Amino acid sequence: MTEQNGLIVGIDLGTTNTAVAVIDETGRPEVLRNSEGANTTPSVVYLTNGEAIVGTPARHQRLVSDTDVIERVKPHMGDPEWRRVTSDGERHTAEQVSAFILRKVCDDAATALGSPVTRAVITVPAYFDEARRQATRDAGKIAGLEVERVLSEPTAAALAYGLRARDAGNVLVYDLGGGTFDVTVLRIENGDFDVVATAGDAQLGGADFDDRLETWANTKIVEQGGSDVDDNSDPGARGRLREQCESAKHRLSNTESASIFTEVGELTINRDEFRDLIHDLLQRTRVMTKEALRQAGEKAGITTDNLDEVLLVGGSTRIPAIRELVAEITGKTPNQRLHPDEAVAMGAAAQAELLDAEADDRESTIGTRSVSDITAHGLGVISLNSEQTADVNNVIIPGGSKIPAQSHQEFYTVVEDQRTALMRITVGDHSSPDRVNVITEDQRGVPIPLPPAPYPKESPIRVTISYDVDAIVHVTAADGRTGRSLGDIEIERANNLSPDEVDRLSTDLQRRTVR
Ligand code: AMP
Repeated sequence: MTEQNGLIVGIDLGTTNTAVAVIDETGRPEVLRNSEGANTTPSVVYLTNGEAIVGTPARHQRLVSDTDVIERVKPHMGDPEWRRVTSDGERHTAEQVSAFILRKVCDDAATALGSPVTRAVITVPAYFDEARRQATRDAGKIAGLEVERVLSEPTAAALAYGLRARDAGNVLVYDLGGGTFDVTVLRIENGDFDVVATAGDAQLGGADFDDRLETWANTKIVEQGGSDVDDNSDPGARGRLREQCESAKHRLSNTESASIFTEVGELTINRDEFRDLIHDLLQRTRVMTKEALRQAGEKAGITTDNLDEVLLVGGSTRIPAIRELVAEITGKTPNQRLHPDEAVAMGAAAQAELLDAEADDRESTIGTRSVSDITAHGLGVISLNSEQTADVNNVIIPGGSKIPAQSHQEFYTVVEDQRTALMRITVGDHSSPDRVNVITEDQRGVPIPLPPAPYPKESPIRVTISYDVDAIVHVTAADGRTGRSLGDIEIERANNLSPDEVDRLSTDLQRRTVR
């Protein structure tokens, strides 16, 4: 960690909790305490009187009233439909709320380190698509940070594990946090981290288990003559019920049964009943774990027979039913040496140290390591099919490809002296345009400016599409006849904030007190 360009930290920006870590001079990861003395900060923001209050005080506020308390924004990163309106009428994006959290944890980290933090590696679920990764970068930018890398969480967890075990072999990481699920298979050999397969769901996590418990409790309360939380005029009723449900869920990880106290008396639930409530959600993780193993078998011959380690990360993996499920699928007892809440931040710090060492041209304090990741989602371009009768999605970089990745395709102009060509770029692996996401804002496509005439009909344009190391898409075009570059193509993304909006939100954040 050098101070030349400002300090760099690793940040696990979680749905429910956020953690910051650095690698110390001896190469050991250290999770930094926040101003409340805790290793993790609740990812909850309370907006009041021009202030953004982040973490435990915001979480406590929710018990009094959930008005203007915003939480669980991560699954909504990059979602153009999602806005939280506060009582002053302001509309907040998930990126802005995340920026408040990032600002607070970096200020606390700076206090702990005694120097400003200006740069960060931020982790994201492996299954986050490019819009969500870009949104995470935007959140960092709004917070005034230089985001040096957007790193997949299971890869980060494996890096943290690999700090101790350089030759862990074939490893499966099952990562179930507060709002997202990932499963990744990788090989760790001689300090090289090679991701082979990944699957997941960006909208599945511990908060869904809380929802199930809340619905269960609310139904019981109403059955027994109590008031429905959905109609309750007390603004803190939902927050308190939620808090009790989450706390009961935590206790169920250690005890056979747990109770919550409500206006109709004590409600008790046991482990088996809880398992039944979340059964279908657990099964979804089973399907994805099997899918990741299938891909790993196909690509690298990694199967349950030659898996060396199974790592659990994310707070929800403390649930016994989940440990049993993972053991059953993999045939191995999961390794519990990683701290479920801190490992990802530690791995992000390790990646930050690797980048810093590379930039300073020095040996990293954690030894020589390389990290090679893959993209979970394919990248393509829509064109007319060969019969010229219907649109088809041409996958140019398939999901599961190593990143960075680059590929090109030739397109042909359709009229004499055509001035622009429209290109629809997609994320997804299906050949049907309806089954993939067009990432450009204008659904007709990104305009590629062509050189001035003469440019006869059916002239080739070579379009090169790439995923960078952050799995963010870049497009360049060239004149197919001469090879002359037509430049980088700016993609106005459908799902993201415009650069102007990012600047505006950044100025807004600087004006507010964030604490
Ligand atoms: P993370 O995003 O990794 O911080 O995970 C947070 C999630 O883990 C939240 O949904 C927590 O409620 C959940 N969690 C934390 N501790 C436990 C526990 N002891 N039992 C069950 N879930 C837990």
